[in-house]
Amino acid sequence: MLLAGDVGGTKTLLGLFTRAAARPEALALRAYPTNEFANFTEILHAFERDVRPQAAIEAAVVGVAGPVVHQRAKLTNIVWDISAAEITAWSGARRAVLLNDLEAMANSVTVLTPDELLVLQEGVPNPEGNAVVIAAGTGLGEAYLHRVNGRLRPVPSEGGHADFAPRTDREIDMLRMLRDIYGRVDVERILCGPGLVNVHRFTHGGRVCPPVLRAAPGNEPAAISQAAMAGECAECVEALDLFVSAYGSEAGNLGMRGVATAGVYVGGGIAPKILPVLQRGAFMEAFRTKPPMDEMLARMPVRVILNAEAGVLGAAVYANEM
Ligand SMILES: [Zn+2]
Repeated sequence: MLLAGDVGGTKTLLGLFTRAAARPEALALRAYPTNEFANFTEILHAFERDVRPQAAIEAAVVGVAGPVVHQRAKLTNIVWDISAAEITAWSGARRAVLLNDLEAMANSVTVLTPDELLVLQEGVPNPEGNAVVIAAGTGLGEAYLHRVNGRLRPVPSEGGHADFAPRTDREIDMLRMLRDIYGRVDVERILCGPGLVNVHRFTHGGRVCPPVLRAAPGNEPAAISQAAMAGECAECVEALDLFVSAYGSEAGNLGMRGVATAGVYVGGGIAPKILPVLQRGAFMEAFRTKPPMDEMLARMPVRVILNAEAGVLGAAVYANEM
């Protein structure tokens, strides 16, 4: 039996899987609010009480939202850190591995089925090419899948913390405002839930509009996208348009950096909630409009990952190969 996990800034998913040829099968899957636990071992204990594993755990793989150094990770948005040693201590697994969360998710893309993906651009897939994954959620994650000896090998990155590159006068104005607030503007200041709130602040001139005032704490990003999609507030419409265009552009940047001719995968919690806006065209237009590379970008297959458990599935795929 395999243990797989996906530890995010908001939610932690843990699952037990059985081995399979390519795609391990989930026996049990549970979600826990990351912030309500004092450390990761407490979540493991809660999981043990909930699912009562019946067989020994052979391998354990956990993706975490932060850089992994020497099998230890300090989570970007959580006070505690996490180590492979505590997973081994709890599970008794012969091997426990920590991966960056996007690296974990990247392991899922080769086993996802067509109904778990939504095509934004069919493109012309190159079976010998690389792929990339970009995922906006609580933060912004990016990963590469390099083709090595015919197989796609996930490679982590902290690309979400690279500098935001504005393209239009409006984006330059937004960069100025955010630089005044934060000093430095990485892409994650715009492309994640709290990032959408930053964009909202810009389009509303610092004012908070009624749909967002009514939102429960933490639900502001969802309130902004809902107000935008319902046409309830013109400034929220502009905020979501700016967000989607910047998201498409960054996906194109990542596609170029990784030469992702085999595919660009858009994961994370936000994309499935704004699918109609992603499909409207501004995302793909920003993705492609990068001369002299526009022809290559127009040939890259671009798909949204609809499976909300792709992170934990990818961790299980990695464990399955151990
Ligand atoms: Zn508004």
